[in-house]
Amino acid sequence: MASPARNHREDTVPADAAPVIEIRNLHKAYGSLEVLKGVDIRAPAGHVVAMIGSSGSGKSTLLRCCNLLEDSQQGEVLFCGEPVRWRGTGMDRRPADRAQVTRIRTNLSMVFQSFNLWSHMTILQNVMEAPVTVLRRNPREVEDSARRYLAQVGIADKADAWPAQLSGGQQQRAAIARALCMEPKALLFDEPTSALDPELEQEVIRVIKALAQEGRTMIIVTHDMRLAADVADHVVFLHKGRIEEEGPPDQLFGNPRTERLRGFLSATQ
Ligand code: ADP
Ligand code: MG
Repeated sequence: MASPARNHREDTVPADAAPVIEIRNLHKAYGSLEVLKGVDIRAPAGHVVAMIGSSGSGKSTLLRCCNLLEDSQQGEVLFCGEPVRWRGTGMDRRPADRAQVTRIRTNLSMVFQSFNLWSHMTILQNVMEAPVTVLRRNPREVEDSARRYLAQVGIADKADAWPAQLSGGQQQRAAIARALCMEPKALLFDEPTSALDPELEQEVIRVIKALAQEGRTMIIVTHDMRLAADVADHVVFLHKGRIEEEGPPDQLFGNPRTERLRGFLSATQ
C-alpha cells in the first residue's frame, strides 16, 4: 500500500494549485464506436494516479487524450488549469492552437509498453533527441542531464550502446530516462511492464517506485495490481469507457464496492 512516508511534491505546491492534468466529462468515439463516455480524471502535482481495467476499456485512449495525441468529441482537457482550446464540433473537433498542443505534449512525457526507442540512435542520442530538436535546448547541458537520468535509472554504462544491445528492461529504463530528460510536469505510463519477462519487470518497477518517492506526478496504466497498490495515491477502474469505481488503493483493492471491480480483481489474481 502507498507509504504514508511518501515525500509528496505537493508539500512544496500550494494546496489550491490546479492539477497538472485534469479531464472533465470527456467523450471520445472512433466512428460509431464510443470508447470514452464521460470520464473525469485529475492528477494533482506530486500525485500518482493508477488506471486499471480490462483490455479495450479505453485506458490507452484516455492517456492519449491527456496529451492530445487524440482529440475528442466533448469535454474538457486542462493542463495546469489552462483549458485546451478547440475548434470545430463533433468528429471535426480539434485542438485549435498548435503551440498549446506542443506545450502540453512536451510537458506530459509518455512511456509506452513497447519502449519505442529509435533503433538507429545510441541510447544517449535517444535521450537527448527531443530536448535538443523540439525544445532547442543547449546540447551540452542536455547531455549532462541525459547522463544524469541514465544514471538514475541504472544504465549509465549503456549510453553509447544501441537499443538492440539492451535487454527489454534496460530499453524501458532508457525510455524512462528519455521521458525524464524532457523535464516534464508529469509522466504518463501505458502498461510500462507488460512487454517484459517477470524478472525484468522488477527492475522497471523499482525505477517507477523511486519516481513516486521523489514526488513525480504520474498517471500509470498498469495490469500490475501490486504496482498500482504500492505507488498510487488514487486508483481509477475503467470499464467500457466509464469510471466504474475510484478511490485510494487500500479501498479499491481491500474493499471493492462494485461487482465489476470484484470480478476484475479476482480475474487478475
Ligand atoms: P485499453 O488500453 O484499455 O486496452 P484502448 O483505449 O486501447 O483500450 O481501446 C479502447 C477501444 O477503442 C477498443 O475497442 C479499441 O479497439 C478501440 N480503439 C483504440 N484505438 C482505436 C483507433 N485508432 N481506431 C479505432 N478504434 C480504436
Ligand atoms: Mg491499452
